[in-house]
Amino acid sequence: MVNHLRKTLFIRFSKMKDTQEYIDLREKCLIISILKLCLPMYLKKYEKKINSNKFGKKSIEVDFLLRNKIKCGYCGYSVMSDSGTAHNGEKKYYYKCRGRKAKLNDCHNKPVRKEVLEKIVIDSVIKELSNPKTRDYIVFKLMEIQEERAKKNVVLNLLQSEKRTTETAINNIMSAIEQGGSTNTAMKRMRELEQRQDELEKHIAIEKSKTVAVLTKKEINNYYEKALQLNPKLLVNYLIKEIVLFEDKIEIYYNSPIPTNPDESRGFSFASEVIEISYSIPFRKYKANLIYTVIMYIQ
Ligand SMILES: [Zn+2]
Repeated sequence: MVNHLRKTLFIRFSKMKDTQEYIDLREKCLIISILKLCLPMYLKKYEKKINSNKFGKKSIEVDFLLRNKIKCGYCGYSVMSDSGTAHNGEKKYYYKCRGRKAKLNDCHNKPVRKEVLEKIVIDSVIKELSNPKTRDYIVFKLMEIQEERAKKNVVLNLLQSEKRTTETAINNIMSAIEQGGSTNTAMKRMRELEQRQDELEKHIAIEKSKTVAVLTKKEINNYYEKALQLNPKLLVNYLIKEIVLFEDKIEIYYNSPIPTNPDESRGFSFASEVIEISYSIPFRKYKANLIYTVIMYIQ
């Protein structure tokens, strides 16, 4: 097989000898021979570089606490981890909008230093949840939502009562028909009642789906006490549903300890504060300064 291939190539080469194509091919072959000689040398060098770059290897393991929780407030793409090396060789880590990083759009949202953003988020979450006034407000609002839901149960009770009345009315008409008292009016009334009964069943099913277990004030407080005892990574996973990042604003959406209904609003806001943070940048005389308005919601 190999011999046959060689023979074919030889014939092809003889035919095209001294043509431009032949000269080009000969050059290519020469390059390949040189590469064959040099490649092992290059590979060894490359291997050495990888092994010496231990810091680079570790960078993959850098823990981005807010990973998978942030999205860009401008373009809606997720905000992902990014890194760069400073002039002094120090590796820096960032949170950067995916739309901007992958050039998927012309999003202008600037990258934020990893440790800076994580500090703002974790500190403000702990600060607000440890504040008794904020906690009281959260508990008050959550209890209010639960009470509203309980009121909807009154609606459920009314619907069930109407369904019982309709059933009795249908049964009465049925007996009247059986006793030979069938009239067009009675038949029409029965069809109306049956239609109403179908509607009631649908409404009852909807209201029943909204019925959820009610938490006490103590249980809601315990939920937050438990969260505050967790390490930052678990705290973020347990409490935070989503963070929306703007250049001057951070919206933090918390999970709700009470189950949420899809037809309810986006939740309520319980804290808003302006946070200023400054940090030094290598080879720069002045410190960088960031000001964010942090707004918190429970969904
Ligand atoms: Zn963006």
